[in-house]
Amino acid sequence: MSQDTFRALVLTQENGAIHAEFRHLTNDDLPQGDTLVQVVYSCLNYKDGLNITGKGKISRFFPMVPGIDLAGTVIETTSSDYRAGDPVVLTGWGIGERHWGGYAQRARVKAEWLVPLPAGMTLLHSMAIGTAGFTAMLAVMALEEAGVQPGEREVLVTGAAGGVGSIATALLARRGYRVAASTGRTETHDYLRELGAVTIVPRSELAAPGRPLESERWAGAVDTVGGDVLARVLSATATGGAVAACGNAGGASLTTTVFPFILRGVRLIGIDSVTCPMERRRAAWERLARELPADLLDQITRVEPLSRVVELCHEIVAGQVRGRIVFDVER
Ligand code: NDP
Repeated sequence: MSQDTFRALVLTQENGAIHAEFRHLTNDDLPQGDTLVQVVYSCLNYKDGLNITGKGKISRFFPMVPGIDLAGTVIETTSSDYRAGDPVVLTGWGIGERHWGGYAQRARVKAEWLVPLPAGMTLLHSMAIGTAGFTAMLAVMALEEAGVQPGEREVLVTGAAGGVGSIATALLARRGYRVAASTGRTETHDYLRELGAVTIVPRSELAAPGRPLESERWAGAVDTVGGDVLARVLSATATGGAVAACGNAGGASLTTTVFPFILRGVRLIGIDSVTCPMERRRAAWERLARELPADLLDQITRVEPLSRVVELCHEIVAGQVRGRIVFDVER
């Protein structure tokens, strides 16, 4: 590779099928934007899995460089907010969907999408967090703002061994909540206990059809699964409780009754990490830097070469990835 070219994963579409290949590009190939970033790490999120396997319609046009997150250093910018050499993090805002994303050694983006790397955090750890961890923090903030306090009653995390779920479990446990972690994988029970879960709830228990109102069990919940699981969680949430709905790993439909809302005052709060406003975004990242120690992030993360991305995308949509995967984009 010459100095003027860099490697990028490029998605194309032919007869409805997605094709992914590594290509060497130049800066002239990159989209418009006021800031050129040397990408050092990216990471794997469920949405990247849907995108690259073609299981979800994520890319809005082709060719697309996927990767909804990136971390690196500014090469050049016309923004007065950043200078060459500044370490930055970018999650969401449609990169890897509507604008070329992080699965490349360089990206040209808008400075207004960037967050300065929080003090004390490494680029690697920022991608160990990525959209998944950022979403987990937004969910925790939503539960706190809804008045869900640490106490005797448990807070449930569904899809707990996944990326969002692992970080939500760790964040809640560290803030003193009693965390019940729901998983479909028995081999993750010890891992979830190490992250701070006091109870393990088998996924099958929540997937079975329930009554419109179950006995009050959860003070609140972070749900990454959606579908019947979310309906079941709502029906067992205690009076005044709140459920932060983040994901659809188990289904996008929601069939429920109004009873949890009108008889128990339960709140269902939607979490959208993509367009989260900048002030809240920075506040969430500052908290992530304070509340997730490096050794905990190392425990839930493995670093993989970007060359393995396609294979790992198939694994994440099959529910086989535990915790977080960071991509070294140089490899
Ligand atoms: P992961 O694949 O890492 O985690 C998802 C977890 O869900 C799996 O590990 C598994 O957990 C569980 N799961 C998988 N398939 C099923 C199924 N069929 N039924 C029930 N549970 C299942 O993905 P992420 O953590 O990256 O993302 C989780 C969800 O959150 C996704 O739907 C994603 O799109 C969404 N998301 C939303 C964001 C937002 O802004 N709202 C941002 C980030 C993610 P286990 O093995 O423990 O049961």
